[in-house]
Amino acid sequence: MDFSWTAQQQQLRAEAKEVAADAVARYGWTADSWINGYCPPFARELAARGWIGISWPKEFGGAGRPAIDRMIIAEELIGAGAPVGSYWVAERQMGPSIFTFGTADQQQRYLPAILAGEATWCIGMSEPGAGSDLASLRTRAVRDGEDFVVNGQKIWTSFGAVSDFVYLICRTSADGPPHAGISELIVSMDSPGIEVRPIKDMAGGAHFCEVFFTDVRVPATNLVGVAGAAFKQTMRQLEHERGGIDRLVSNHALYRRALDRADMTDPLVRQEVAQLETRYRLGRLLVYREALGQAPKGFSAATKLFCTEHERKVADFTARTFGADAMLAGDVSRGLCYANSYTIMGGTSNILRNIVAERILGLPR
Ligand SMILES: Cc1cc2nc3c(=O)[nH]c(=O)nc-3n(C[C@H](O)[C@H](O)[C@H](O)COP(=O)(O)OP(=O)(O)OC[C@H]3O[C@@H](n4cnc5c(N)ncnc54)[C@H](O)[C@@H]3O)c2cc1C
Repeated sequence: MDFSWTAQQQQLRAEAKEVAADAVARYGWTADSWINGYCPPFARELAARGWIGISWPKEFGGAGRPAIDRMIIAEELIGAGAPVGSYWVAERQMGPSIFTFGTADQQQRYLPAILAGEATWCIGMSEPGAGSDLASLRTRAVRDGEDFVVNGQKIWTSFGAVSDFVYLICRTSADGPPHAGISELIVSMDSPGIEVRPIKDMAGGAHFCEVFFTDVRVPATNLVGVAGAAFKQTMRQLEHERGGIDRLVSNHALYRRALDRADMTDPLVRQEVAQLETRYRLGRLLVYREALGQAPKGFSAATKLFCTEHERKVADFTARTFGADAMLAGDVSRGLCYANSYTIMGGTSNILRNIVAERILGLPR
């Protein structure tokens, strides 16, 4: 078996490195740049290269290239801290949801703007009383003629203040078990009745928001997939969210700054770096398996768990390397503060361990 990169993949990586370095020089870097690096002009530049939706099927406007190609580009761009945030959630998750579950009309209406890097989407999943336990969500959508009428509140909605659309998970039925009455709606963020309140995080940013819905009318044609099947559909989306390289490289740019400063003559430092490098390569192998479709169903929970625990170790190493200076080092301090979120967003480590235990290993609850 040949594990080496093809000439085409090596060329793509070299190109991605160049694009990333150029973007960082012009727009600056951020740790977790797929959330904190919001930069629509850069999204349009990437779209012009055909790098947004590169592995989407051709019939939906993508380039139909292997998922590994997308992974290489993402590894280089996010690993350098280049600002991919404005299109990231849409390209990674909402587009694939729409071409998998959406109607032809929804596909024609929403996919082109994502591919052009012109649309920002947010995910309205979490609520004050429903984070890990999504089935307990209370935002409801009641059918009224040709519309749904939405009432409720979402929280921690990344990009809530700058998005064109929210992919809303809401309750459309109170009958049956709690997870059975949940549906997915595409909601335009300029709909009357939506109020967005940004929340300042400890790193000084305000990418996530509280979003309030009061009698918001949404055309019934904006229902994605089957009414009441959101729980199942969401689990498919979470595979995209949890199994990607973004979960491994979020703070790689931070790591590089720590390496520049680390005392490599110290055997303990060398040992720690060797451990981090080994874990990075292991994480990459897990992501490859996801990209190649070789991971068992649900395994993205294990991939995300491993990768984000690695990211926390990188942050610990960086904090120790900078010592007290970390507090004064601008972007480094922000990156370190932000690192607390890696093992929370997209599913906490505890929840992922439960999933691995129950759904992959088949252990009793
Ligand atoms: C940076 C960031 C960005 C985010 N962006 C978005 C977004 O764009 N859209 C969105 O919808 N949400 C977003 N979230 C929310 C995120 O998905 C939730 O924070 C996450 O699912 C955890 O939910 P919670 O905060 O309600 O915590 P809780 O579910 O209340 O959990 C609190 C603690 O209890 C533990 N716990 C809970 N239940 C169990 C259990 N059964 N077994 C063991 N331990 C348990 C958890 O592991 C955790 O440690 C974001 C969060 C962060 C930090």
